[in-house]
Amino acid sequence: MAGIDIEGLATVYPNGVRAVDGLDLHVADGEFFALLGPSGCGKTTLLRTIAGLEAASEGTVRIDSADVTRVEPGKRGVAMVFQDYALFPHMNVSENITYPLKVRRVAAATRADVASRTAGELSLQGLLERKPAQLSGGQQQRVALARAIASEGKVLLLDEPLSNLDARLRLEARTFLKKLQRDLGITTVFVTHDQAEALALADRIAVMDSGKLRQLGSPREVFARPVNTFVANFIGSTPMNLLPGTVTTSGTGAVSVAGGSLPATTGSVPADAEVTVGIRPEYLTVVSGDVTGPALRGVVVVAENLGTQSLVTVDCDGTLVGVTVPEEAEPTPGTAVVLTAPASRVLLYDRNSGELLA
Ligand code: ATP
Repeated sequence: MAGIDIEGLATVYPNGVRAVDGLDLHVADGEFFALLGPSGCGKTTLLRTIAGLEAASEGTVRIDSADVTRVEPGKRGVAMVFQDYALFPHMNVSENITYPLKVRRVAAATRADVASRTAGELSLQGLLERKPAQLSGGQQQRVALARAIASEGKVLLLDEPLSNLDARLRLEARTFLKKLQRDLGITTVFVTHDQAEALALADRIAVMDSGKLRQLGSPREVFARPVNTFVANFIGSTPMNLLPGTVTTSGTGAVSVAGGSLPATTGSVPADAEVTVGIRPEYLTVVSGDVTGPALRGVVVVAENLGTQSLVTVDCDGTLVGVTVPEEAEPTPGTAVVLTAPASRVLLYDRNSGELLA
C-alpha cells in the first residue's frame, strides 16, 4: 500500500497546452480519491502523468515516498484501467487477467491460482474461458479491474471506469467498485466528470478547472461548502442558486436579494457589501403560515418531478430561485410562496472573484 505525493506538477503538451498547471496533491494510503471536473480540465492528463504515460514538464510525482517522476510506467507500481477497458480480444478472461504476470514470467501454475482467486473477488467465476466479445459491458469492466488488481500494483488508477455502462449497470458497478476498494484497501485514484459518481464513491474529491485544483475535500465539504462559485455550479444534481445580494446587517445578520432577504452569518463581510449569495435548492424550505425573520417571497413558475422530490422554480421579483420540496407538497404554478433557509446554509461569495467570503 502506498500514498501518492504530487508537488508543483505541470504537464505541457507539445502544442503548448498546459493541461496540468502547477498542482500539489497528496493522496493518502488506502484512500479512494476522485479527480472531478468538466471536459478538458486536465483530469485524464493528470492520471496519465501519475502513471507515467505522459511526461511531467515540471514538478515531481512520488509513489510510496519514491520519486517516480522519470521512472517508466511499468516500473512505477501502478495499475491502470482505461475507459474502454483495453482487453485483448484474442485472449480469454483468464489470460487477460494474468497477462501482466505472464510478462513478468510468473509460472503458469501461479498464474492459474491468481486468475481463479481474482475471478472470485470480482464475481467472474465461470467466465474464465470466455473471450471479451462474449461478455456484457459490466463483466468486461470487471475483467479490466481484475487484470489491474492481479498485477499487484501499489496504486490503482481508473479513467472513467463506469462511463461505458448503461445507467442501471453503472449503479450496480458503482456499488461493486466501492465495496471492492474497501475490501482491498488499495490506494485508488479515479477520474470522472460525473459529480454524483464522485460524491457517491470517493473519500475525497479534487475538483479541477483549467489544469488547476479548485477545491479539495470530502464529498460533504465540497457539496455543503464550495469554496468558489465554479465548484458551487459544478457540484449537485440540482444547481446551487447564485443570487446577487447585499449584506444588510453583518454578524448574525441578513442579506437582501430580489424578493426579500435571507438570514446569513456574514463573518467579516461588512454591511452594504455586494455579494453573490449561494443557497442550494435542498436547503431552502417553503414556509406555511407566518414568518418571522428574513424570507423570500415569490410565485411558483414551474415544478419538475425528481422522484420523491420536486424541484420548484420560484420567480422572486424577476429572479428565478430553485427549491426542492417533497413530491406530495408540490405547489401548483401561480401559487404565492414564502421561502427561508438556515443561516448556516447561506453562503456569501465575492461578487467579482467568486471566492467564498463567509
Ligand atoms: P475529458 O473529460 O473530456 O476526457 P479531461 O479533463 O480528461 O477531459 P484532458 O484529456 O486531460 O482533459 O485534456 C486537458 C487539455 O489538454 C485539453 O485542453 C485537451 O484539449 C488537451 N490535450 C489532451 N491531450 C492532448 C494531446 N495529446 N496533445 C495536445 N493537447 C492535448
